[in-house]
Amino acid sequence: MPVVINFKICDNAEACNGIRVCPVGAFQWNAEKKTLEIDEEKCINCGKCATSEESCQVGAIRFAQNQEELKKLKKEIEQDPRTIKDLMIDRYGAQPINLPFRHKESEVQQILTTKRPIIMEVFNEDSEECLIKSIPVKEIFDRLDIPDLSYKKVEVDTEEFMEKYDIQELPSLLMFQSGKLIGKIEGYYSIEEKEILFEKIKEIFNQNG
Ligand code: SF4
Repeated sequence: MPVVINFKICDNAEACNGIRVCPVGAFQWNAEKKTLEIDEEKCINCGKCATSEESCQVGAIRFAQNQEELKKLKKEIEQDPRTIKDLMIDRYGAQPINLPFRHKESEVQQILTTKRPIIMEVFNEDSEECLIKSIPVKEIFDRLDIPDLSYKKVEVDTEEFMEKYDIQELPSLLMFQSGKLIGKIEGYYSIEEKEILFEKIKEIFNQNG
């Protein structure tokens, strides 16, 4: 029986856990069409992509045991009033949802003219992680409690930028105070590692406060 993805609440990302849990590679990312899809010919109808605890955390992947269930499932999805924005807010390592957070490399110099403390997340398409496993940016703000802190997401597309800030890995966080780089944290931190990330950021700002 088919697997159905509720794209109303799915972030449709290459990092989907459904791909990881599928034992036969039927749950796939189509790089050309930039979408998740299920290869019906490979699928062995095990249901793991929908039922495994390791799979989708918001229940966007559904599995029908028979035609009757499939009909019900489709109707349920059709009537689901939720959208992706009801579930997601801007998160570390993920594509920004709120446009004011998002900047181009060319805007960085302008951003750094402020005296405000800045956490600048740098990422590119290849470094994007699963939204659900990433740390909400709001939590980073609330937990750090740094007055006037500003959070920016900068999409990087040149080697020049990477070299300028000596960045080896994306996503990374660059910390600035009065336009001056005061610290850097390289690599992705998932929600399970958020305490470690908070402590590292706090330490950088405390040392330069
Ligand atoms: S039902 Fe099983 S085989 Fe089919 S896509 Fe899901 S995990 Fe893969």
